[in-house]
Amino acid sequence: MRRAATLLLLFALSASGPAAQRAPRYDLLITGGQVIDGSGAPMRRADVAISGGKIVEIGVLRGATARETIRATGLVVAPGFIDVHTHADDLAAHPRAENFVRMGVTTIVAGNCGSSALDVGEALARIREAGAAVNFATLIGHNTVRESVMGSANRPPTIPELAKMQSLVWRAMSDGAVGFSTGLQYVPGTYAAQPEIIELARVAATAGGLYASHMRNEGTALEAAISETLRVGEATGARVQISHLKVDSPSRWGASASALALIDAARARGLTVEQDQYAYTAASSTLSIRFPSWALEGGRDKMAERLNDPATWTRIKTEMAGLLRERGLTDLSFAVVASARSDASLNGLSMKQIAVKRSGLDTPDAQFEAAKALMLAGGASMVYHLMSDEDVDRIMKDPHVAIASDSSINTFGEGAPHPRGYGNNARVLSEYTRQRHVIRIEEAVRKMTSLPAGQFHFAGRGLIKAGYAADLVLFDPLLVRDRATFEQPHAYPSGIPYVLVNGVPVVAKGEQTSARPGTTLSPAPAPSAR
Ligand SMILES: [Zn+2]
Repeated sequence: MRRAATLLLLFALSASGPAAQRAPRYDLLITGGQVIDGSGAPMRRADVAISGGKIVEIGVLRGATARETIRATGLVVAPGFIDVHTHADDLAAHPRAENFVRMGVTTIVAGNCGSSALDVGEALARIREAGAAVNFATLIGHNTVRESVMGSANRPPTIPELAKMQSLVWRAMSDGAVGFSTGLQYVPGTYAAQPEIIELARVAATAGGLYASHMRNEGTALEAAISETLRVGEATGARVQISHLKVDSPSRWGASASALALIDAARARGLTVEQDQYAYTAASSTLSIRFPSWALEGGRDKMAERLNDPATWTRIKTEMAGLLRERGLTDLSFAVVASARSDASLNGLSMKQIAVKRSGLDTPDAQFEAAKALMLAGGASMVYHLMSDEDVDRIMKDPHVAIASDSSINTFGEGAPHPRGYGNNARVLSEYTRQRHVIRIEEAVRKMTSLPAGQFHFAGRGLIKAGYAADLVLFDPLLVRDRATFEQPHAYPSGIPYVLVNGVPVVAKGEQTSARPGTTLSPAPAPSAR
């Protein structure tokens, strides 16, 4: 009896031996999680199997073998977040992109607000050579192109200048740009009239690219700016992306309703138009945006000449006060220095506080003088507290609005950047989803994944689906939250233990790995490669 049992046991062992030595079926298995697939469909319990950087199976995969297994009990398994509005143009120099990776972002789009690499082909090649933690795509920026052809001239282009700009946009598109962006509140884009923008957007549209715009106005003339943006799409056939949609003037709070209605009407007429937003009531921009654009024309020296000329400066101050009044503001106390080029001790202070520090006065005039001094010393990047919760909530509820950070790659501990660069996605999942129920969790994930992937034509990304790239984020739906604040922005979110890019963990057990599995995404076929 004993002998028979021993024989049976030996038989069983030898039978299981070759099976155990067989190669595991998958590279990676994520077991026991709640899958939110990015389509908006309700979450469901499922395992996800990955091989060769792709999702290969989703379901209850009992007994499946893999080289590596991540137990995701209690976690949501979602597609990696796609951040289509970033200023991460320097990814080659900062390939870890930690502030993005740690909030679950696996794909970033740079080149926004009119500012990009001029040579997109070279920029993409440098990122591929350096290797990056995230996938990367870029737009070609109008300001970059205009600057290279016309400097900061405040006039329409000549015919040869327009042709030169068109050829630069065409080259960028054929080198792999995903579209054309404008930043019409910035120099020199702000000097461009609509015909110029249409002729350049048309080039991008012909090559399959979209038109993304930081519009001419985001408050006092919001509807006119939206109409201008929509007309570019209607004239060229380009898909339109309205960047960081917001209402940035207290005098216009509530205007998100008419803004969204205008966009809906264009969509009903057949235009493909979507928007993006970040989940904060404060914006971030340059200090120069508070100055009349004519005062900035012609470069730094010309600007300094105007600021230093008493009569011209008085005129500039009067216009600055007028611009504020139109927005329902009386001074610059809403403006906080994020990073002053000349003096880091000013970072985190409002213009009102800086005025007091400089002159002992807190009057609007003392604040304008402080702003002038900062501009003459090299300018500053700023955080502007200008929006209402009501508008941010209403925009978020719109099903055509993607979640995007508008952030650069941050160096941990440096300056006082807008906290969106560390917390945007986590904040939507905690504040707007779990705590305030502005949107459902599945809708939040859709706005970060399949919605932007569809608009930017990122085929095979943005869903948990067999054959799709294994860009994934695992987060704890009860604990995920942003920890970055305006006072202390350098803080990674909590509750995001795993992030995978092309099947490779870039965050594991809450820490970033050294992996750089990102790739560059260029949906437009490159003619030179044919
Ligand atoms: Zn912008």
